[in-house]
Amino acid sequence: MLLVPCPICGPRAEIEFEYGGACEPSTLDKPWARANIKGEQKEFWWHRFGCGQWFTCVRDTRTHEFCGQSRLISAQESEHSKE
Ligand SMILES: [Zn+2]
Repeated sequence: MLLVPCPICGPRAEIEFEYGGACEPSTLDKPWARANIKGEQKEFWWHRFGCGQWFTCVRDTRTHEFCGQSRLISAQESEHSKE
């Protein structure tokens, strides 16, 4: 099972989360323009059935492993990720 690293709760099962898409500031208003990256990709995640916070983290799309530190995002960024 994939463990998603919430910055508040720590690693939790993927089923507690909602995937918010790739995090590319230049394409926030154009989701269709996002590249389908093979490798490390910064992504939005929402801890829907946990603390309720949106955050970003880097995931390797080949292995699905999370790498690096997850980070809480601002309300403005979170509005974009919900579109
Ligand atoms: Zn959480």
